[in-house]
Amino acid sequence: MRVVVTGAAGFIGGHVARALAEAGHEVRGVDRRGDPPLDLARDDLTELAEADVVVHLAGRPGVRSSFGALAEVERDNVTATRRLLAACAPGRPRIVLASSSSVYGSATAGPQRESDPLRPASPYARSKAEAERLALRSGLPVTVLRYFSVYGPGQRPDMAFHRFVEAALDGRPLPVFGDGRQARAFTYVGDAAQATVRAVTVDLPSGTVLNIGHERAVPVNAAIALLGELLGVEPRLAHRPPAPGDATRTCADPAKAAALLGWRATTPLEDGLAAQIAWHRTPAAVP
Ligand code: NAD
Repeated sequence: MRVVVTGAAGFIGGHVARALAEAGHEVRGVDRRGDPPLDLARDDLTELAEADVVVHLAGRPGVRSSFGALAEVERDNVTATRRLLAACAPGRPRIVLASSSSVYGSATAGPQRESDPLRPASPYARSKAEAERLALRSGLPVTVLRYFSVYGPGQRPDMAFHRFVEAALDGRPLPVFGDGRQARAFTYVGDAAQATVRAVTVDLPSGTVLNIGHERAVPVNAAIALLGELLGVEPRLAHRPPAPGDATRTCADPAKAAALLGWRATTPLEDGLAAQIAWHRTPAAVP
C-alpha cells in the first residue's frame, strides 16, 4: 500500500515509517522538520489525497508544555488536522489518527476503556480530543489510536524516561514531578509501531477507536527503581511540584485492540528500558 506518515521525523513517526517499510509498504514520510519541510498547518497538502492510507502522527505533544503554548498546540494539533482531513476529503485515503490516553484524564480504579467519557485536563489533551472529533466527523474512513506513554530508543527529550536516563548518566538527581506515585501504562515504541502497522493493514469499521497501551500500569517510582538496577546506580531524586494536567494514573484496557488488531503490547518494561538506555549511550541520542 502507499502510506503517508506525517510526523515521520519524530519519535513515534520514525519507528512507524521504518516498520511500515519493513512490512513492504511504499512509505512517504512528511514533516515540518523533513527534507523538504512540509508544514501541515500552512503548505499545500493535495499530494496526501493520492495515498491509500495517511498515518497522522504529526503534532505538538506534551501535557506540561501545552499550558504555555496554546496557539502552537491549536495550530499543530487542530488546524493541521483540519487541513489534512480537508485535503484528503476528495480522495480515497484511510486515516489512522494518533490520539492520546490524556483524553481520558486520570483513571480511577479500573482500566480505561475506549467507551469511557473524555475528561481532557490540559490544552494538549483538549486538542487531541478535538482532533479526534474532527476526524470522526470528516466522512473519511478513520481509525483512532490512543497511545499510552510511549518510550524506547529515540524518545523525546521532554519525556520522563529520557530526562531520567540522561540525568543518571550525568550523575545528576532525576527530576521527578510530584511524589512519583503516579502510574503509567508505559508502552514500548516497537509495540506501538507494530500496532500502527496493523491498523494500516486491518480493514476496521470506520470510526474505530483503540487503546494502544500496555495493560500494566507502573508507578513512576517503580520504573525509577528498575532504571537504577539496569544502570547499576542508586538514583537520587529531585522532586518538583506536581505538573498541572498530569494524570495520577493511566491504565489501558487492551481488550479491543487485541480483538480487532490481534495485537497486545508484549515488551516487558525491563527490556524496553534496557533498549532505551542502550540508545542513550550512542551518539544518536545527543540532541
Ligand atoms: P514528536 O514531537 O517526536 O513528533 C511529532 C512530529 O510532528 C515532529 O517531528 C514535528 O516536527 C512534526 N510536526 C509538528 N507539527 C507539524 C506540522 N504543523 N506540520 C508538519 N509536521 C509537524 O512526538 P511523538 O512523541 O513522536 O508523538 C507523535 C504523535 O503521537 C503526536 O501526535 C502525539 O500527540 C501522539 N502521542 C504520543 C505519545 C507519546 O508517548 N510519545 C502518547 C500519546 C500520543
